[in-house]
Amino acid sequence: MQIRCYSCKMPISIGRASVEQALTIIHEEDLVYYDFRCPKCKKSNRVSKEQLMHASPAWEYKPEAKSSDESKKKTDSK
Ligand SMILES: [Zn+2]
Repeated sequence: MQIRCYSCKMPISIGRASVEQALTIIHEEDLVYYDFRCPKCKKSNRVSKEQLMHASPAWEYKPEAKSSDESKKKTDSK
């Protein structure tokens, strides 16, 4: 997808991988937007979850495959 920096008006291309990464972070942190930094002026540009979903409609939340998943299980051992 492509956005335009609100500050310097430079077009910023956001690759599929970056869109999906942003969506994952939005999902995990329960955000409604993600900040993409302009490579030119370094300002943060907010892109809404809706825009990201539109750019990558096939995306679905996949928790990062971590070998430590087992440790997330709730136990009463504490
Ligand atoms: Zn900019």
